[in-house]
Amino acid sequence: MKIHEFQSRQILSKFGVNVPPARVVYSPDEAVKAFEEFGGQMCVVKAQVYAGGRGKGVFRNGFQGGVKLCRSAADVFDKARSMLGQVLVTKQTGPDGRVVRKLLVAAAPAIRKEIYLAVLLDRGAGRPVVMASTEGGVDIEEVAARSPEKIIREIVDPAFGLQVWQARKIAAALDLRGDLMNQAITLLRGVYNTWLASDASMVEINPLCIVDGRDGKPRLVAVDAKVSIDDN
Ligand code: ADP
Ligand code: MG
Repeated sequence: MKIHEFQSRQILSKFGVNVPPARVVYSPDEAVKAFEEFGGQMCVVKAQVYAGGRGKGVFRNGFQGGVKLCRSAADVFDKARSMLGQVLVTKQTGPDGRVVRKLLVAAAPAIRKEIYLAVLLDRGAGRPVVMASTEGGVDIEEVAARSPEKIIREIVDPAFGLQVWQARKIAAALDLRGDLMNQAITLLRGVYNTWLASDASMVEINPLCIVDGRDGKPRLVAVDAKVSIDDN
């Protein structure tokens, strides 16, 4: 079962995963209100449909992209109006596309680096696996085809859960050091626990980002989130 990005973000944040503040809106006016609530800084307007690949998607009306960065209220209004009620076609929707009935307006801190992260079941091992890659923001299938050596896999013993040493190993392979390593350990365990407690078939965060925090220090945040729940 698929759920929306905003719902996935809510679940992840319950498990201690950092997600930028965001609001679901149903009209361009509401979108502007949310933008102003976030301090009128840069924000991102995102179509909420049960499919990924929105950034590179195309609307039937010719409008390009279901994920748009905005810097002004007028821009937010414009982008929201271009998306709402329109059919978005992405790699994952099939040719019929999906009607966009709601948007997520999210604060958009400056991104320094995009990482790929997922927890799913490794059927071969019969155990959960954490998959990660420094090649974030790109389809993992593409990374697998182009540079499979860049995909990190860590099998988890379900009796013990994701151990600190395993989270540390993944963080090190992602080249996260110092405070970012500590943040990564907390985040990785939060994502694993989300997967376990939600009976998820997959939790995918693509991209997980290093952003500039309010204090200027780097922070790890989930910029996109996709939780798929096991149908059983
Ligand atoms: P999808 O996976 O459905 O295309 P994403 O939320 O991953 O949707 O957004 C697509 C791309 O848009 C991201 O990989 C990222 O490069 C860019 N993007 C998304 N949110 C932001 C943001 N807050 N700031 C800058 N770029 C963003
Ligand atoms: Mg994404």
